[in-house]
Formats: sequence, structure tokens, C-alpha cells
Amino acid sequence: MASTVRYPIPPSFIDFAFKLTPIVIAVIGSLFRLNDYVFSGSLLRAANLKSCCDTFDFIIVGGGSAGSAIAARLSEDQSIKILLLDADGDPNPFTYLPAGVIQTLKHPETDWDYKTVPQNGSALGLVNQQVNFPRGRGLGGSSNINVMIYNRGNPRDFDRWAQVTGDARWNYENVEKYFHKIEDYNGYWSRSGYHGKGGPLSIESVNYAPGLNYVLDAAKEMGFEIRDMNQD
Ligand SMILES: Cc1cc2nc3c(=O)[nH]c(=O)nc-3n(C[C@H](O)[C@H](O)[C@H](O)COP(=O)(O)OP(=O)(O)OC[C@H]3O[C@@H](n4cnc5c(N)ncnc54)[C@H](O)[C@@H]3O)c2cc1C
Repeated sequence: MASTVRYPIPPSFIDFAFKLTPIVIAVIGSLFRLNDYVFSGSLLRAANLKSCCDTFDFIIVGGGSAGSAIAARLSEDQSIKILLLDADGDPNPFTYLPAGVIQTLKHPETDWDYKTVPQNGSALGLVNQQVNFPRGRGLGGSSNINVMIYNRGNPRDFDRWAQVTGDARWNYENVEKYFHKIEDYNGYWSRSGYHGKGGPLSIESVNYAPGLNYVLDAAKEMGFEIRDMNQD
């Protein structure tokens, strides 16, 4: 009797297919403009405001990264009433997919879709020499449409703000502790001494980056050091 030979699907293929799914969804979504259907269900929380809450201790205009962080911190005191206002509603599901950013850029519910003024010496190939300048709109703001690279500001910018304002509290040396405090860091560089644990912001290294090693090897070969990008 002939035996049946089974060819199991290699686990590495299943893993690959699983990780590719969000990218496929985002690309198909782009092609069929699925975001138009998803966005049309966007909920404006203002509609849910109860008449009980017509006075507030704090009104925060702009529910992006900064406004939301301020609201979250203030709300730790439950006796405080806070109104967090934004120009649009809840984040669209595509904002949860890194590749979903394609869906959100230039969409009127998630992107203010600014353009720079016409440039003089650059953007020579662009219409009117104007560069697209996306800024996020709706709860989450630009964090909904960014590409999730955990990149702190340049220490020299902080030092310069301290100089310009005459307020030494802006020096990077003084603000760095707040970067540590906000982090729950679980990335490659945990031991670099530049990160914190237990804060509200979870940071991880990307767990699927096909081909990344080739790029890093090439960079090393050219003499670049591979290190924590948030290091001094
Ligand atoms: C396309 C893109 C990619 C990026 N990639 C990265 C990255 O990989 N890594 C990184 O570190 N940073 C990245 N950034 C930058 C980062 O996302 C922003 O610096 C950060 O989110 C800004 O936070 P914010 O609170 O200052 O402003 P925002 O998050 O922009 O929030 C401002 C909020 O105010 C609201 N608002 C504005 N005017 C009004 C009004 N009149 N009434 C009510 N609400 C209003 C807006 O709708 C918005 O929600 C990226 C930004 C963009 C646009």
C-alpha cells in the first residue's frame, strides 16, 4: 500500500506569512481605498459628553502626543475634571499597523495635509516647489501617522533652547531623566544606560526586519558604528 507523503508547511513560512499580513492588508487597503469606509465610522467623543460635565478644571486643546500625555498625568488625580479637545475623533484602525501609515497620510480625517511655502533652492521636482508636510489630526495626533521610530530630540537642540530662553532647566542634562522616567524599554540597548523601565511608554526593538542584517553589515564594513540612536 502506498503511503501518503506529507509536506508540512515550514514554521518559518507560517511566521513569514503572519508577519507579512499587516503589510498586505495595508497595500490592498490602499488600492481599494478601504480607509474611506473605515474612517466614515469615526466616532466623535464630543457627542458623548454628558451634561454633567459642563465645567472643567483644565481644557487641553489638541489630543496628540503632548496633549494626551498631559491629560493622562492630570487624570491621575480623579477629582480633577479635564476636557481634551481635538479637531477629529478616535484613531482609525489602520493607525495600529506600521504599514497602515500609507492609508492615513493625506486623508482628511487623520492628516492636516499641509504644504510648505514654495522653496527657493530645493523641491525642484515638485509642483510649485512645495513639499508635503503631514501633521496628524484626531486623537493621537501625529503619533497616529508616524513611523514609530523611537527618536529623542537632539541634545544640542535642548541645550540651545536653554540658551535662548535663559532657562537652564531645558538643558539636555536636566531633561534626560524625564526620557528615562517615561520609558518601559525592552529593546536591544537595555544595558546602554540610556533607558528607563516601568514607565508608561513601551519601547521595543522591531522584531521583524528582513534584510536588516545585510544593511547593518554593509554599514559596519563602511566603518559606521552600530549603536543606540538615542545615545549621546
Ligand atoms: C509622517 C510623520 C512621521 C513621523 N515619524 C516619526 C518617527 O518615526 N519617530 C519620531 O520620533 N517622530 C516621528 N514623527 C514626529 C512625531 O510624531 C511628532 O513629533 C509628535 O507626534 C508630535 O506630538 P505633539 O503632541 O507635539 O503634536 P501632534 O501629535 O501633532 O498633536 C497636535 C494635535 O492638535 C490637534 N489640533 C491642532 N489644531 C487644533 C485645533 N485648532 N483644535 C483642536 N485640535 C487641534 C491636532 O489634530 C493634533 O491631534 C513623525 C511625524 C509625522 C507627521
